[in-house]
Amino acid sequence: MSLQVGLTGGIGSGKSTVARMLGDLGAVVVDLDVLARAVVAPGTPGLAAVAAEFPGAVVDGILDRAVLAGRVFSDPRARERLEAITHPLIRAAAREIAEAAPAQAVVVHDVPLLVEKGLQDAYDLVVVVAAAEPVRRERLRRFRGMGDEEITARMRAQADDQARRAVADAWLVNEGTEEDLRAAVDHLWRNVLVPAARAS
Ligand code: ADP
Repeated sequence: MSLQVGLTGGIGSGKSTVARMLGDLGAVVVDLDVLARAVVAPGTPGLAAVAAEFPGAVVDGILDRAVLAGRVFSDPRARERLEAITHPLIRAAAREIAEAAPAQAVVVHDVPLLVEKGLQDAYDLVVVVAAAEPVRRERLRRFRGMGDEEITARMRAQADDQARRAVADAWLVNEGTEEDLRAAVDHLWRNVLVPAARAS
């Protein structure tokens, strides 16, 4: 079986950038956001289940995301019902990709809430991307146009670095240029991930 790597990091740390770089190096990247959309794509059993549970959220065979978001946004029980449908499907889709990957492949699972949800044991190795808070804030302001309050709220809802450190097998600091990051990712790939995949 291939090596399962859980990749995580706080918002603005550069996690998605690292996932892309690892993909360029040859990793099979499993993006949960992509899978979350795929399991409720038109014609899927997932969408049929959502339609049955949330009448009005599926119109002409297509999910109306705004309607669904409105139903679950301030109703934790509704959110749980939705996640009871989607999460097992997302997990199964991720497992299918991992099982289809060649032996000795490095499969990178991009999991924003890995630490918050205590998912570290699902992976052979956990890689955390980290950057100091002011650096992350500046990126989110500049590249995503986010305001300070929104950034603070998003960060407060996430784990802190101490909690991430407790589960990290590798800690990638991303506070320099993208070239610096690429060098660190290359190093991780060659010296940690590929050897671990060979041994798996
Ligand atoms: P995350 O997925 O952790 O929220 P991203 O990988 O999307 O973060 O990075 C946030 C933004 O910062 C993106 O626009 C990305 O291109 C940019 N970025 C990431 N790392 C660097 C870096 N070392 N130098 C400059 N910009 C960066």
